[in-house]
Amino acid sequence: MSGALDRLDSGIYPPLFRELRTLAGNYWWSWQPDGPELFRDISPSRWEEAGHNPRRLLDTTPLSRLTELDVDPRFRARARDLLARFAADLAARSSWAEGLAPRLTPERPVAYFSAEFAIHESLPIYAGGLGVLAGDHLKSASDLGVPLIAVGLLYRQGYFRQDLDRSSWQNERYVDIDVAALPIQRVVGTDGAPLSVTISIAHRRVHVSIWRVQVGRVPLYLLDTNRDDNEERDRWITGHLYGGNQDTRLVQELTLGIGGVRALRALGVQPAVFHMNEGHSAFLTLELLREQLTAGMPLEGAQAHVRAQCVFTTHTPITAGHDVFGVELVDTFLADYWADLEISRETLLNFGRRRPGDAWEPFGMTPLAMRFARSTNGVSRKHGEVCRAMWRDLWKRRKPDAVPIGHVTNGIHVPTWTAPAARALLAEHLGPAWESRLDDPELPARIDAIPDEQLWELRNRLRRHLVAAVRAHAHATRARKGEDEHFVAAADALLDPGVLTVGFARRMATYKRLSLIVHDPARMVRFISDPERPLQFVLAGKAHPFDNEAKRTLQELARVRQPVEQLGRIVYLENYDVALARWLVQGCDVWLNLPRRPLEASGTSGQKVIANGGLNISVLDGWWIEGYAGDNGWPVGDHLDGNPKTQDDADAEALYAVLEREVVPLFYERDARGIPVGWLTRMRASMRSMLPFFNTHRMLRQYTEQIYLRGPDGGSR
Ligand SMILES: *Cc1c(COP(=O)(O)O)cnc(C)c1O
Repeated sequence: MSGALDRLDSGIYPPLFRELRTLAGNYWWSWQPDGPELFRDISPSRWEEAGHNPRRLLDTTPLSRLTELDVDPRFRARARDLLARFAADLAARSSWAEGLAPRLTPERPVAYFSAEFAIHESLPIYAGGLGVLAGDHLKSASDLGVPLIAVGLLYRQGYFRQDLDRSSWQNERYVDIDVAALPIQRVVGTDGAPLSVTISIAHRRVHVSIWRVQVGRVPLYLLDTNRDDNEERDRWITGHLYGGNQDTRLVQELTLGIGGVRALRALGVQPAVFHMNEGHSAFLTLELLREQLTAGMPLEGAQAHVRAQCVFTTHTPITAGHDVFGVELVDTFLADYWADLEISRETLLNFGRRRPGDAWEPFGMTPLAMRFARSTNGVSRKHGEVCRAMWRDLWKRRKPDAVPIGHVTNGIHVPTWTAPAARALLAEHLGPAWESRLDDPELPARIDAIPDEQLWELRNRLRRHLVAAVRAHAHATRARKGEDEHFVAAADALLDPGVLTVGFARRMATYKRLSLIVHDPARMVRFISDPERPLQFVLAGKAHPFDNEAKRTLQELARVRQPVEQLGRIVYLENYDVALARWLVQGCDVWLNLPRRPLEASGTSGQKVIANGGLNISVLDGWWIEGYAGDNGWPVGDHLDGNPKTQDDADAEALYAVLEREVVPLFYERDARGIPVGWLTRMRASMRSMLPFFNTHRMLRQYTEQIYLRGPDGGSR
């Protein structure tokens, strides 16, 4: 690192690379055409070693190489083009975004709070779909020019890296984030000194540092307690994402909610709206309440004032996904707080209860958020319905239909998830900047006009890229573990670039049912080893560190894989992250989603395959209920019974049947040109019907117009 600064100071860093180093300080590059590719081409091997962090790449590449590129006209032209687009994009205006004023302005933005953000693989402060959604939300806010700032936590060791041992048991490995090498800046005050805030936890003063990561036009502020002036145990508050016990979780959430509001005040920001992305940040409502009470406002008025500013998105119908804390924990950690608030302990505890006054009920973050939010929404139409039934207690047990919880269906940030080759093809046929015009009424006709040869060539190319990436990943993993050299070399023959490729990757939560794939191992093996029309599987996903059942499923999967291992047609990739996810959603022909209904609130990974020409096979749950239209993918299981065991049997049978009778024949049925025309018809239907809706530009416009800009709903709690 000091080497890099020496280079900058001594003036020997070629000027073009000074500019690229500045560009590398904003994650904007990561979703631009030729952004990642430009940096990668500086030195492909160092790009991998640098974990796709361009700062580190530039700092570790020998000056001789930079000087060589500095006089390469092709490289210079590419770099100049990217730098020009950066400047233009940060300054871009749109009439839609300007029309948000005066309700939303850079001085009065939306403050978006989340415990995780997936911006890029080099910043491992996310675990799964919740973080991906938050990251994609910020990128669309930047693209559309919505005044929005974000608040999260800077975890010292992020989320864990996954290692499977010889028996395929998952072990977790924790690695320190290299703050010095990442584009993360310490926020300083007007006096130039680092800005920090203090919160009180169990009678201790905890100091919180504030960092800033730039995501295009959107600043993401990250809080961190790893400071010399904190006690050792408090330095670990922001140690790990979802790694600790209940105590850790509670103090993390206090840091995010209370520390987050204080950090914004220290920065001089007065948000117009506080958006709680999941209940983890709901303590922010208490801090907003404290501000009003300290200023002398009576409790009722203060509550109304807080409600007018807060909105809440809930993300799961699974009980364990809603944090609750025992009363004794709240007593321990919030003791100073209710004294500050000058409200009684009972009043505070009741804020977190479905049934105020029920002394047996613990303190829940979801009731707290709902009680203080003027708007609560679920993340798909079905999930909205499930939430209304689930939380009606909070509205004095109204009929579910009368519970004021709506929905905004999740989307994905199309530029982030679409392969360069697919972006280029779609730009050719849909026009430049097609990603920001997905609602163009011309889109369907233009998709239909893409010639068969080009569409099919795209699929073949993306499948080949995936196969190459899988081989490289498996080779590197096996070599790192010191496996036997034949086994390492065998990685280079995994998968077949001509075979129908099916992907399944997500957190290994039990309800997501990876296990269905191997429900009938013999039948799966028959599919995989069919001499004429084979199938191959690429699988990935981490189990939560404490979820032994999910870890056992991974072991069981390994046992099923063994007999067909030499065919190399079922591959499990370790250490699922957003980089792996990109390869998978871009390269797979078919994407599987097999949740136990109705537990998938939305799911988003299936949406990522659409622009890449992948097709979905999914249980009709979450987003797929809205996405499936008869001809644009396949549903699994129309039969619903209350018994998980027989439900699994029925859904596995339905999955095998759809693969055998529809998916495999359609893929292998070729015309005289060798093209599967029926498959391409389905691909076009998938893009045409779903691209316009399942994206975060649409999602963010909806949040902005229907929630951020709307007044209080008036429903009483
Ligand atoms: C998209 C994504 C997810 C979410 O997948 P679901 O199918 O919605 O569960 C999780 N993890 C990573 C790394 C992703 O990219």
